[in-house]
Amino acid sequence: MFGKIGAWLALLYIFSYSVHNVELRNIGTVNRENKGPQCGYPSCHPTPPGMLNVHLIAHTHDDVGWLKTVDQYYYGSETLIQKAGVQYIIDSVVQSLLRDPAKRFIYVESAFFFKWWKEQTAELQEKVKMLVNEGRLEFIGGAWSMNDEATTHYQSTIDQFAWGLRLLNDTFGECGRPRVGWQIDPFGHSREMASMFAQMGFDGMFFGRLDYQDKDERLMMQKAEMIWHGSANLGDKSDLFTGALYNNYQAPAGFCFDILCADQPIIDGKHSPDNNVKERVNTFLEYVKTQSRYYRTNNIIITMGGDFTYQAAQVYYKNLDKLIRYANERQANGSNINLLYSTPSCYLKSLHDAGISWPTKSDDFFPYASDPHAYWTGYFTSRPTLKRFERDGNHFLQVCKQLTSLAPKRSAEFDPHLNFMRETMGIMQHHDAVTGTEKQKVALDYAKRLSVALRACSTNMRSTLNQLSSGKNRSTAVPAALEFKTCTLLNISSCALSETNTRFALTLYNPLAHETDEYIRIPVADYKYAVLDPTGKSLPTQVVPVPNAVAKIKYRRSIAQYELIFLAAKLPAVGYRTYYIEKPDIAPDDLKPGPAPKKTSSLTRIGNGNIKLTFDTNGFLSEVTADGMTRQLSQEFLYYEGAIGNNAEFLNRSSGAYIFRPKADKVFFASDRVAIEVYKGPLVQEVHQKFNDWVSQVVRIYKQSNHAEFEWLVGPIPIEDHMGKEVITRFKSDIESDGIFYTDSNGREMLKRQRNHRETWNVKLQERVSGNYYPVTTKIALEDTTARMAILTDRAQGGSSLQDGELELMVHRRLLHDDAFGVGEALNETEFGEGLIARGKHHLFFGQSDRRPGVSLKAMERLLQLQTLLPAWKFFSNMTAYSSDQWLTSFTNTFNGVSVILPKTVHLLTLEPWHENELLVRFEHILEKDEDSRYSKYVQFNIKDVLAAFNIESIRETTLDGNAWLDEHRRMEFVPDPEEESYDAYGTFAKTSGAVHLLEAAKPLLEAKYSKEALKAGELGAESNRLKRNADSGHFILHKRRSQQVRADNVNENVVPKSNDREQFLIELSPMEIRTFVVYLSK
Ligand SMILES: [Zn+2]
Repeated sequence: MFGKIGAWLALLYIFSYSVHNVELRNIGTVNRENKGPQCGYPSCHPTPPGMLNVHLIAHTHDDVGWLKTVDQYYYGSETLIQKAGVQYIIDSVVQSLLRDPAKRFIYVESAFFFKWWKEQTAELQEKVKMLVNEGRLEFIGGAWSMNDEATTHYQSTIDQFAWGLRLLNDTFGECGRPRVGWQIDPFGHSREMASMFAQMGFDGMFFGRLDYQDKDERLMMQKAEMIWHGSANLGDKSDLFTGALYNNYQAPAGFCFDILCADQPIIDGKHSPDNNVKERVNTFLEYVKTQSRYYRTNNIIITMGGDFTYQAAQVYYKNLDKLIRYANERQANGSNINLLYSTPSCYLKSLHDAGISWPTKSDDFFPYASDPHAYWTGYFTSRPTLKRFERDGNHFLQVCKQLTSLAPKRSAEFDPHLNFMRETMGIMQHHDAVTGTEKQKVALDYAKRLSVALRACSTNMRSTLNQLSSGKNRSTAVPAALEFKTCTLLNISSCALSETNTRFALTLYNPLAHETDEYIRIPVADYKYAVLDPTGKSLPTQVVPVPNAVAKIKYRRSIAQYELIFLAAKLPAVGYRTYYIEKPDIAPDDLKPGPAPKKTSSLTRIGNGNIKLTFDTNGFLSEVTADGMTRQLSQEFLYYEGAIGNNAEFLNRSSGAYIFRPKADKVFFASDRVAIEVYKGPLVQEVHQKFNDWVSQVVRIYKQSNHAEFEWLVGPIPIEDHMGKEVITRFKSDIESDGIFYTDSNGREMLKRQRNHRETWNVKLQERVSGNYYPVTTKIALEDTTARMAILTDRAQGGSSLQDGELELMVHRRLLHDDAFGVGEALNETEFGEGLIARGKHHLFFGQSDRRPGVSLKAMERLLQLQTLLPAWKFFSNMTAYSSDQWLTSFTNTFNGVSVILPKTVHLLTLEPWHENELLVRFEHILEKDEDSRYSKYVQFNIKDVLAAFNIESIRETTLDGNAWLDEHRRMEFVPDPEEESYDAYGTFAKTSGAVHLLEAAKPLLEAKYSKEALKAGELGAESNRLKRNADSGHFILHKRRSQQVRADNVNENVVPKSNDREQFLIELSPMEIRTFVVYLSK
């Protein structure tokens, strides 16, 4: 083993040598030459030592849709709803910046910026580039939108950062790269977001909203700025310096100088009777002194801006000029306060340069409460169908990216189509989009955008699939193009193509990098169908009636009465299989599915050898059998009535789009008796439950499955009693969970939650229910020493465990009052003239919590989590023109994009076309380090084997966003407070009034590398050192450290055999690690 590693290291050295001989396109070198004045940290205004430096941040917060649609905000229409026009903001800010080099501005939302950029003349674009190169206009955050952090999935967050930073990089080069995250408005903050920022190479992040009790405590303890440990698995590479802003993101009271505000300007006419300079400066300096008491250094940050401010930038700037001038004039008389135009990154640099240590944090900032009765936990569930559509959008985007990459020939429209889909999904991540906290009209606009983007990307997919599937028999004419249609109404078991054709093909595209088995359901009009696999073999099928409640949906225009089910086995990784489905002329009549005979006096059981469920005589779930245990388990639907109030004081807060506030802690049962029908066949066993006229459910267990599926249908929620209702599903077990449960963070790591408790302060909860709600992006779980229960969701939902052994998830809400946080509408969604109906799935896992033989439950949950996120995409094609024999001989019905199947713990997180002849590829280890004794280990594979469909020339690793070389990228390092970390290793500290100062470092602390520095010869990946790399190079050390870890962790044995040129393509992953590569393809 040892000798092997030595040889491997030597080969890595060759790799690092050879990879830099290849001509690589350089990320972020566009502006390296003739830079003149510097962007970034060197462009910061000086902060005189011994002064209290006040960093004034001129900024605008431009929601990518909220009360108005994205375009209404951009163009500034509908001014009666909100006076906001983003184009004017950027226009006027740019002019102000051009007039005065001292001024600074930050811009955040790439969705708006690039819309504006495209409309400018080349001349103005050059001027803007100059502003960016000189650090006068600085991009912060830089993603397509400022994403929400509770309801977003990490895959979509990474995507929208990758795309925003990509355009900034393509346009401005290194000076366009944001260094600081800016999450000033999202309603609480996830730990995974911190981890992603860190992995994207950000130096720090600032935000505005945290629980009011937490904020008080942090300010009092000078802990509002901290080092956040973003991951329990990834170590310090996920650490992020994070600061909570003092006044959200607003200007101090009385100092909003914007045309949107009514505050007094600074009146400095010497003889003006209104001259207010002295009074205004006094007030401001008092505010400054107060704020500074709560923060550790001699620097404070003050946000001078707000929602859609700076539409007439000169108004704001003129007053800021005066404020700065008159405040700083007092320095001549002994004032030690210095005001300056600054940016969040300049402020961060000052914090770093202060050389002190910082508190640390390991949990997250959920839930967010702004007052004792306003827990922002309703938006975890608000607009459940938009939330599901967004998740569908991500699924579709990933498939579209892969198929666009795989296209043998790409037409000119491919890129614009894919970009449109990328950008639309970027918009969907906005903190008033997927959250459901926008006005109804805006929600409809988002849905419309997404459906248009889906149609656009469909054409890429259709073209690629036609190219891949045709030409099996090239001697004959190329067959007519097939439709490869997506049925968007499968969520109501409807699909015109499968319902109306007696012959059709179903192409199942599997975006995962391992083979999958999937039970497929197709809406059909009859029960007699034959399904042929790609070899022409007839497959076993089962037909189940479409549930009554679905069939009865008024606006469902479908003749499908049944769902045809078959098992699509061994769907190739990153590939497809096509099935031929036909209705034979003659078929035996005994296939007609009928419910099992009703049994009123005894129990109903469904299941298989892995898991069984029992239903009592009232039709409710009562027991589960799994892993050799039989345990009590019930499930029911209940609802809270939404609180109603005038919002004039905290106690009168209404439940609304943001806020979940039940009228009382009381819940109401949706039903006390459930009507059931049972269907059992060779592939699936189902119990169709009807709870009442607006709640129904199908509980099913497939033959080979290790979990149960609960497909719920809720709505229209009745409001005839003038009460808004918030509907939950609650699973009740006898597991002794002792107040503890677990929820995921954006679909990745699990976080421990404790009822009525917060990790870092003594919480006083006046909302017993909503104060215990947490965001569930994909999973919620609890366990004791013997049993474990986990529920996977198909969209973001709010969830909790209000009693030991219980898990609840809010599935739908309909409310009649606004909660007074700006939307100005009740969350009362209607469609087709009645309350919105939502349908979705929960996947229930139950079994032994540990000592389970074989694969752990947690590992199985992770796998299903992936398959729920990215199942096979269904493409339908009419086959009227082809008999099954013709179909078999005319088309390529199986396609496999990878030759070596990855271990199941490895997820091909990204495969997308990047620049010309480049792919962007991400691999992810989907397990946490303690989730499975066997599989939570290092894995190793060769990227060339995995992506065999491509002709790979070389690869180079980047930061998580794909826009900076990992080996060239440095981050600022911050020192944790001594009591929290083993500080002895660092040196001597002095503690004064809560702040800890580093006196002497035992070992040199890593200094921040500012962008002005060219990398020295011998340093990582330095330009000048491409050919002179020696064994001391950092690149080498990086790999050396890695390989030692491999040895220590005892890598899995399935190591690919090595040969010289293959070494450079070997990739290893540790638990929860994501690695991102630019892959260069041969031309
Ligand atoms: Zn906002």
